[in-house]
Amino acid sequence: MKNGNEHYQIAVIGAGPAGATAAVYAARGGASVVLLGGASPGGQLLLTTEIENFPGFPEPVAGADLMQNMHRQAARLGAAVLGEEVASVDLSRRPFVLSTAGGRSFTASCVIAATGAKARWLGIPSEARYTGKGVSGCATCDGFFYRGKEVCVIGGGDSAAEEALFLTKFASRVYLIHRREKLRANFRLQKKLEDNAKVEILYEHVLDEVLGGDAGGAQGERAAAVSVRNVRTGEVRKLNTPGIFIAVGHEPATAIFKGKLPLDDSGYIVADGRARTSVPGVFAAGDVTDRYYKQAVVAAGAGCKAAMEALEYLEEAEKA
Ligand code: NAP
Repeated sequence: MKNGNEHYQIAVIGAGPAGATAAVYAARGGASVVLLGGASPGGQLLLTTEIENFPGFPEPVAGADLMQNMHRQAARLGAAVLGEEVASVDLSRRPFVLSTAGGRSFTASCVIAATGAKARWLGIPSEARYTGKGVSGCATCDGFFYRGKEVCVIGGGDSAAEEALFLTKFASRVYLIHRREKLRANFRLQKKLEDNAKVEILYEHVLDEVLGGDAGGAQGERAAAVSVRNVRTGEVRKLNTPGIFIAVGHEPATAIFKGKLPLDDSGYIVADGRARTSVPGVFAAGDVTDRYYKQAVVAAGAGCKAAMEALEYLEEAEKA
């Protein structure tokens, strides 16, 4: 205890793959570590039912199970794994101070920011009902399940274009549904979409509803189709796409760092190749710094890097 607060050498904020891996490496490196993950720690993987591309799992693993295992591993190695949501941070004094929504505060010599990024959703009720049952935020994760089937992608940016192209490897047809008359995606991607016979772009269309199928089965009702509407003519059309990929951008969870760490123009934390932010002793890892890959294994690798850098920072600070 320092200043009446619980003190740790390393405080990791966010308990998705980046934060959990950082906690594993930091604890195993001999530091005292707290992993602060909010009420339901685990990040975006909690929204994923089956993961088939995280190395080391020959059989599919549920996102929630994978995260629970990482937390147990961190705890076994000595990290304090707490379901506390960090409401504010003071990075202007040493040690750093972290205050939680539940009224606790912690001090830490190093902070690893691993608060992630949330996929943006359309916000319609049927989208939420079928999330993980046909509606997905990640083609890399779930595209494989739609071999020989029709799918649709919502969005008009680079992510939507890349997801649509990726899905052509599996799906028999890919509808790209964009609300405007032209895509935001870069020219190179637009050309690839045009050249791909499996892709059909529906400009000036929006998704109104995700429609369920008749087949109930053990997993419960899954999505079977979508109802889309031409925003100019009002014409409504049904597409038989059991796979619906929402690619309308991400929101990095950086509200608590605004004005305290440099953020880029989309709100992601700016960190160098060694996970260092411009504040010595504060590191960042995972989707909160990564607008591009957004994969659990990449986030886990970044968490490892951040922890190794934090351990080195502590060692240097002790010598000084
Ligand atoms: P983005 O560029 O913000 O594009 C989001 C797209 O979703 C836009 O077309 C937007 O429509 C649409 N959209 C947003 N809300 C919507 C809603 N409620 N309903 C329907 N459509 C909606 O996001 P992103 O594609 O994820 O890209 C994020 C950043 O990463 C960008 O800087 C991008 O260049 C970069 N990135 C680059 C690459 C690459 O270079 N290969 C790959 C992926 C991402 P409007 O066009 O009407 O606004």
